[in-house]
Amino acid sequence: RDRLARSGSPLGARLLEVLSRDSLTEDDWDELEEDLLLADIGAGPTTELLDSLRTRVRVLGVREPSAVRELLREELVALVGADMDRSLHLDPVLVEDGPRVPAVLLVVGVNGTGKTTTVGKLARVLVAEGKSVVLGAADTFRAAAADQLTTWGARVGVETVRSDKAGADPASVAFDAVARGRDDKADVVLVDTAGRLQNKAGLMDELGKIVRVTSKVAAPSEVLLVLDATTGQNGLTQARVFAEVAGVTGIALTKLDGTAKGGIVVQVQRELGVPVKLVGLGEGPDDLAPFDAADFVDGILG
Ligand code: GDP
Repeated sequence: RDRLARSGSPLGARLLEVLSRDSLTEDDWDELEEDLLLADIGAGPTTELLDSLRTRVRVLGVREPSAVRELLREELVALVGADMDRSLHLDPVLVEDGPRVPAVLLVVGVNGTGKTTTVGKLARVLVAEGKSVVLGAADTFRAAAADQLTTWGARVGVETVRSDKAGADPASVAFDAVARGRDDKADVVLVDTAGRLQNKAGLMDELGKIVRVTSKVAAPSEVLLVLDATTGQNGLTQARVFAEVAGVTGIALTKLDGTAKGGIVVQVQRELGVPVKLVGLGEGPDDLAPFDAADFVDGILG
């Protein structure tokens, strides 16, 4: 909570300022609307929220700025906290008469959004929960990605399966990682992938092949889309493509520590019907948290 608040959200400051005025004029309401739009909450959700807030303020006869603020807080929590299953489904699969196979989690998203970092942090969380984890460096496109993942693996104390051949087939690395997870009786295999959005057909082929090939051992139970909160509306465009290409089951919203634009969470959840499950709050190993609507809103409101 403190870390989110530390983003020093200018939105929070502005909202507080508007809401500290004695009675809200039309101009004040317009300002509120502008502030919510700046936070990337989106036009539709912003209108709905303000309609509902104005009605409640009127019906309840609320005047105190602090009471209006509390109502706004409630409305925001309801908006971002839409009733969705936010748990990660990572139970190992028990095949009758067969070997126990690990749960597979694919991490997808545009390069630079924080995929590799998120895989590293998530491995740390899972290890702390007592799970055995294997990492797969299937981002074979970016030369440094496998090194970066291997460094995370070493830091967390888990094995990283990679290829030393430049431009190796990502699906083959992903398969090797999942097979290693099975052979080692690991609980979870986390597979990092490359995300070249400029070539949708290529991306579709690549992710499709990774899913097909890993499914020979264990079908992914989670496909986590990593979105950079600072990119705002771009994030929504990316989300649409990946949802279409990869069957996303959850979102990790990164870099919330550096932005007041986290409102994109509302639009992404609505449009894709996929919940934000994790938030990234910094570059360090502990900077990953489950999404919590109340904490999130308190972060926005400062
Ligand atoms: P990838 O290309 O998608 O694998 O992205 P990386 O994991 O390499 O991350 C790109 C940059 O974003 C790196 O400098 C990370 O340290 C940084 N990063 C990742 N997640 C976060 C976050 O939650 N907060 C901040 N401030 N930086 C992050």
